[in-house]
Amino acid sequence: AAMINISHLTRRYGPVTAVDDVSFTVEPGQVCGFLGPNGAGKSTTMRCLVGLTPPTSGRATVLGAEYRRLPNPGRQVGIMLDATAQHPGRTGRETLRIAALVQGLDRSRIDAVLEQVGLTPAEARARVRTYSLGMQQRLGIAVALLGDPRVLVLDEPTNGLDPEGIAWMRDLLRRLADRGDTVLLSSHLLHEVEQIADTLVLIGGGRVIASGSTEELLDGQ
Ligand code: ADP
Ligand code: ADP
Repeated sequence: AAMINISHLTRRYGPVTAVDDVSFTVEPGQVCGFLGPNGAGKSTTMRCLVGLTPPTSGRATVLGAEYRRLPNPGRQVGIMLDATAQHPGRTGRETLRIAALVQGLDRSRIDAVLEQVGLTPAEARARVRTYSLGMQQRLGIAVALLGDPRVLVLDEPTNGLDPEGIAWMRDLLRRLADRGDTVLLSSHLLHEVEQIADTLVLIGGGRVIASGSTEELLDGQ
């Protein structure tokens, strides 16, 4: 069964149709790249998927249910909607403690996720305002991984990463997908997602323009 199922999803904001009859699925063990220019409707789709904004019509489900109906959603779905939305005055470790508290998770995985994303103990003791964009992305991913979720929803996780950072992200997400986890990640840059994603959903003006395996879509150009 599909881990993520977006079915005829439409979201309007007044006169603006941010998402217009969007349908796609992501299967277990897949990394799906959600690709489109700024304003295409990627964030709105992801916000609907994780219950932050209601669809105008259609459905968005994860693990077979609407996110808000999942038991222990923090343990099932890891979310990063804005890596830069951290508290700049907090340290990396404090950020993870706060996230654990908010999500109702225990603190036992904090060291594990710091190691998983490659933040050193010294970096975890530094305030987030001293972090590079790449370190903020790593911390955002660490927050998403805290509950050891089966599904990850990441909005623009490669934004501002250098080629090394993108290769790191690819390897991390590949390891997770290889153990059966499912990833949906958005980007406005093809060269960033094509290295990472197994499948692509191309979106523009709120509508799906094309979707399929990354290889198949790019060979057809
Ligand atoms: P993307 O993530 O692809 O950049 P968004 O989903 O953020 O696209 O935005 C899609 C469209 O919906 C844009 O035209 C944007 O201005 C509009 N939009 C998004 N959120 C809101 C909101 N809360 N209120 C009004 N318009 C919005
Ligand atoms: P809240 O901040 O309480 O979630 P909003 O629905 O206004 O309330 O904002 C949701 C997200 O959409 C925010 O990230 C905001 O920056 C963005 N947003 C709000 N209005 C617009 C708009 N007209 N165009 C694009 N994005 C918008």
